[in-house]
Amino acid sequence: MASGYEAVIGLEVHAQLLTRTKLFCGCATSFGDSPNTHVCPVCLGLPGALPVMNAEAARLAVRVAVALGLDVHEESTFERKNYFYPDLPKGYQISQYARPFSTGGRLDLDLPGGARRAEIQRVHLEEDAGKSVHGAGGESIVDLNRAGTPLVEIVGAPDLRSPEEASAYLRALRDVLMFVGANDGNLEEGSFRCDANVSVRRAGAAALGTRCEIKNVNSFRFVERAIAFEIARQTELVDAGRPVVQETRGWSERDERTYSLRSKEEAHDYRYFPDPDLPPLVLSRELVEGERAALPELPRAKQARYLGLGLTPYDAKVLTAHPAIARLFDDAQAAYGGDAKRLANFVQTEALSGVVLRGLEAELPASSAQLAELMKLVDAGTISGKQAKEVYAAMAGTARAPAEIVAERGMAVISHEGEITRLCERVLADNAKSVESYRAGKSALFGFFVGAVMKATRGSASPEVVQRVLKRLLG
Ligand code: ADP
Ligand code: MG
Ligand code: ZN
Repeated sequence: MASGYEAVIGLEVHAQLLTRTKLFCGCATSFGDSPNTHVCPVCLGLPGALPVMNAEAARLAVRVAVALGLDVHEESTFERKNYFYPDLPKGYQISQYARPFSTGGRLDLDLPGGARRAEIQRVHLEEDAGKSVHGAGGESIVDLNRAGTPLVEIVGAPDLRSPEEASAYLRALRDVLMFVGANDGNLEEGSFRCDANVSVRRAGAAALGTRCEIKNVNSFRFVERAIAFEIARQTELVDAGRPVVQETRGWSERDERTYSLRSKEEAHDYRYFPDPDLPPLVLSRELVEGERAALPELPRAKQARYLGLGLTPYDAKVLTAHPAIARLFDDAQAAYGGDAKRLANFVQTEALSGVVLRGLEAELPASSAQLAELMKLVDAGTISGKQAKEVYAAMAGTARAPAEIVAERGMAVISHEGEITRLCERVLADNAKSVESYRAGKSALFGFFVGAVMKATRGSASPEVVQRVLKRLLG
């Protein structure tokens, strides 16, 4: 950006909680079903229908808050956020405003320049709206299956200073939510959505500049690009002494630019007030401490532990890219107990290629037990590292034990010293002339002897043992 200016970014993330049913009714939250098949009087906002809070949603929301280090308040309030929109059947969204259930947390980021901590202002609970689908002929239809799905809104402080920091924040946040099992992290399907608030100011200025809010950009890459565009646009304005208009903007992928959706003058007055149908949300100490105690190892802590096992930062990143992959590695390492770096290499070069990820679900071609057994066969010298890849390919997608495949294919490496000695003696006896030349100084012939022994065993002898034995016999 132009020198003398600083960008300020604060992100608001909406994440769907992975409950079976909606926030205030028993309708299923399943994605992708026929439109308007998961609706009832409560989520349709029919007169007289009363909301009942979903306890599982409260539990998951608390889990998110404690994972991000927020204070969870024993009592909080649901409020109605009133506005008119076709996908909002009640005419208001139930949210938390004046008294959210949690405040004051943080998210640690690893940036190229080092680690950095971003503050989180609050996490609150709210319900999702339905979805308007706009047809090619200009018609619009509304699907209310999503209406009432539980969300946490995670409001970040205006702490971020570049598009790269913003995208690192989003990735780190998504990782935490996925590893605690609260959210499936799917930006495209909209279960993890981000609004980016962006302003610029003169470097060193204490006051924040006027911000624009970019709505619902559905990929990390586009968030980065949208913010970069917005920073450049606002910097140009400020630099020319012109005002930045506070407004809500959209991102056009096609034009690679943000555009105005509505200005502050057109902003809604939501007329928030406490929902008279819902009592205060009460979160007991037991619930909060129970969730805190049950928190799994978070991705950043996992990465640090992997470095301690001798993995590279790159390995650690790849293996913590998804909870199911980290689980595969952790379980395989626990069962294997050998060199973690060797396992990590094998997982990355072989095991990851066939993994299919769908939200939090993963289809793994091989189990941790199969991987561990395979690594043990290599360590024991039964098969070579190269043969391990062949065994893996045969084993992937089946429940077969690697040892069974090794036996079936007659792959076991001949590493028994006595057996190899006999083979070497025979090869040397068959090549007496060459042995003479070798002893006379033609040391390049050593490779020829190794090759002859390997050929005699069709490659199944351990090359290390062959070399050692040949050196002894020739020396
Ligand atoms: P609103 O009620 O309109 O959503 P908030 O004050 O709650 O506004 O802020 C929402 C988000 O906007 C937060 O993530 C915050 O960090 C960010 N934000 C607020 N002011 C600025 C600013 N001047 N520049 C960049 N981001 C900002
Ligand atoms: Mg906002
Ligand atoms: Zn319902």
